[in-house]
Amino acid sequence: MSSKTIEEPARHIPLYGEYEVTVLGGGPAGIAASVAAARAGRRTLLVERYGFLGGMGTAAGVTNFCGLHANVHGEMRRLVRGVASDLLGRIDRLGGLNAPHLVLGKILAQAYDTAAYKIAADDLLAAHKVDILFHALGAGVVMHDERRINALLIETKAGRQAVRSDIFIDCSGDGDLAAWAGAPFEVGDNEGHLLYPSMMFRLNGIDPDKAGEAWRTIPSLMEQAVAAGTHRFPRKGAIVRPQKSQIEWRVNFTQLKRDDGSAINGLEPDDLTRGEIEGRRQAINAFEFLRTVPGFEKSYIVDLPPQLGIRETRRITGGYSLSGEDVLGCASFADSIGVNGWPIEAHVAGDVIFEFPPIPESRGFNELPYRMLLPQGIDNLLVAGRCASMTHEGQSAARVSGACFAMGEAAGLAAALSLSGNMIPRQIAVDKLQQMLKQQGAFIGRDQAVPEGL
Ligand SMILES: Cc1cc2nc3c(=O)[nH]c(=O)nc-3n(C[C@H](O)[C@H](O)[C@H](O)COP(=O)(O)OP(=O)(O)OC[C@H]3O[C@@H](n4cnc5c(N)ncnc54)[C@H](O)[C@@H]3O)c2cc1C
Repeated sequence: MSSKTIEEPARHIPLYGEYEVTVLGGGPAGIAASVAAARAGRRTLLVERYGFLGGMGTAAGVTNFCGLHANVHGEMRRLVRGVASDLLGRIDRLGGLNAPHLVLGKILAQAYDTAAYKIAADDLLAAHKVDILFHALGAGVVMHDERRINALLIETKAGRQAVRSDIFIDCSGDGDLAAWAGAPFEVGDNEGHLLYPSMMFRLNGIDPDKAGEAWRTIPSLMEQAVAAGTHRFPRKGAIVRPQKSQIEWRVNFTQLKRDDGSAINGLEPDDLTRGEIEGRRQAINAFEFLRTVPGFEKSYIVDLPPQLGIRETRRITGGYSLSGEDVLGCASFADSIGVNGWPIEAHVAGDVIFEFPPIPESRGFNELPYRMLLPQGIDNLLVAGRCASMTHEGQSAARVSGACFAMGEAAGLAAALSLSGNMIPRQIAVDKLQQMLKQQGAFIGRDQAVPEGL
């Protein structure tokens, strides 16, 4: 990018609306946050740059929920409930939810259809009277003073507009709003390493009988192809699994890097541009290999998603940063607002490395402290989802959908409690937040019995 600048003249910005709670970003965290705030009776707006909800889950073609479950002393349990259960029920009623499947023989994940997710999320927000503004890109903030945000600036087809709000919740995944407001943050491991992005895609036209459990054999077929010199792959740890209709499979196979081998940075427009083009090129290379797998001979790429899948960019520095040790040690916190049962899943150069808490000795999940959602220095802002306060290693686990739903639900309810108590989110009674989350069906750990079933 050129270092030259031009001066933008000051101008009056039309006010789109005034809300009690404004949520930026409609991924798992933003969906849950907006529903929780609106359900508590607060006038709530969700602002999303695309024309649909789901975040990386739809926009990047992830099509699979991780982190809803935990391996509790060797037994699988579904721990993330609350708003997530409502959404899953709606996806299921549309016929778009797979039964949970085992990953590495140690933990469950659950695939879904993106169209069903988008429709179910629209219905969920409508049922709770959340106002939605699609095709609106958050572009900046206007501050009341150093510690309070007055308005979010958005770019729309009708030009630049502003949204005023008492409380804002940053669920942008990239911590955009928090960064514009001046909250401190980290990027990657602070030594230039970010989790590598991937371009997901889906294949259709697979012969399910012939393909069988090909996800077990594909890794060794890849090794054979590399040894024979017929193919080269950007990473090991390829995930190729069936969707609900077994003629369709999702493919998580690619890894996007710069010329120097470091990860594409999702905050850099030139990196993103290169990542999209190179991601599609890697997808077609992966497809050429997959067509050699029995059952895949007549397959075709049915979907390349709207955007490259970004796993990690900014992580806000809050009152506590969830760490890798917290994940592996199944940490407890007095101010827990939810749980994470997903292991560390580090997307490093050329590979994906999983690290689990001890099985079956451990309870298999860590609690998520409310302080993760409270950025330093800004009083009317909460941050939830993959940009919440975590270390690089902690985020490698708790960035997945399950924990993001849990954080979002807590942030939305905390915003509502702040407004009813006429106080800032940092001052609310956390025991009241915990009690209300439990009443609304969330599992937050602490003294609660671990839920039965999947
Ligand atoms: C390739 C890949 C594979 C993955 N696999 C899995 C998996 O199998 N299971 C799993 O659970 N998780 C998986 N993840 C992780 C998971 O998808 C994300 O970490 C999770 O979606 C994060 O949720 P979030 O709500 O914090 O943010 P996001 O899902 O990133 O959502 C953020 C939302 O904010 C919007 N937004 C961002 N900036 C702005 C702005 N300035 N203005 C307006 N809108 C904005 C975005 O469009 C998006 O809708 C994967 C991620 C990737 C990239």
